Amino acid sequence: MAEERIPFRGGLTCSCVVKSLPFVEKDLQQRGLINGSIRIFQLGYRTDVDASAGTHARGGCTDVAPFNAAVIDVWRQWGWTMQDRSPFFADDHAHGWPYKCPHLSAAAQQQEDDWDRKDAGLVGGAQVQGRWPVLPWNEAFDKMVPTLISQLGVPLMAGNAVPIRITYHDDQALTPVVVGRVNVKQGGSTVVFDSSKGVDCTATIVVGGLKPGETVDLWWGVEWKKDGSKDQDKTGTPVPVTLHEDGGIQVRYAEPLEKAAAGWTACLRLFYKTDSATAMIVQRKFRGWKLV
Ligand SMILES: [Zn+2]
Ligand SMILES: [Zn+2]
Repeated sequence: MAEERIPFRGGLTCSCVVKSLPFVEKDLQQRGLINGSIRIFQLGYRTDVDASAGTHARGGCTDVAPFNAAVIDVWRQWGWTMQDRSPFFADDHAHGWPYKCPHLSAAAQQQEDDWDRKDAGLVGGAQVQGRWPVLPWNEAFDKMVPTLISQLGVPLMAGNAVPIRITYHDDQALTPVVVGRVNVKQGGSTVVFDSSKGVDCTATIVVGGLKPGETVDLWWGVEWKKDGSKDQDKTGTPVPVTLHEDGGIQVRYAEPLEKAAAGWTACLRLFYKTDSATAMIVQRKFRGWKLV
């Protein structure tokens, strides 16, 4: 395996660490186990630190804090071999690598052999404490990313997202007082059709024709549709953004789109309400993606 030596957070490391660590960090933040960033003491491709006995000479190995049992358990769920090294080294840190990283030094590879025997890799016969075994980091990654998405309610770019790119140019005159739908094509207003574990879509809407004191509210809503039946509004409490004068505004939807009841299809649509008899939508764009 060729050396990677990718610059990352003030050091050098391999692609496994570059890909996995930011997600572990996001997970730790979401669980309230860290504020801000993981503290990194040492990455890879260095031979100037005696105490590590060559384990950091190539990729994979990473020294971090904090390292309490709850934090280490999250690392393990992401397929890392992170272990508390604070009793054994002057600098308090946890040491580990993405399990099955192919960029390990010979010394780190030896530690992985120890790990496979549940040996903590220290002098003497100390056993690995806590969650063991762990999945290879890339399998763990694929398994953990969706759980992170459901915690966040916002899809991360996780590989199975399809883009939402809608631009519709026709002007749309707005009907005052009643709730209306923003068109995304001639006679159509559905931006996302069918449920999804995660949608992140931003609408950019430009309005003209507002008189002083008039406003337009815009909000994302969910409707269920079924052939031959009237659409059902499932929005709950709308969270509108308000335009107070002619111009553009953005409205973001970043949540799952729940499944509809049997026979119905969930649809994500943008709604408006205005007190203006003259307001028009003169431009709209929808940009984002949905998990499939
Ligand atoms: Zn280390
Ligand atoms: Zn690696």
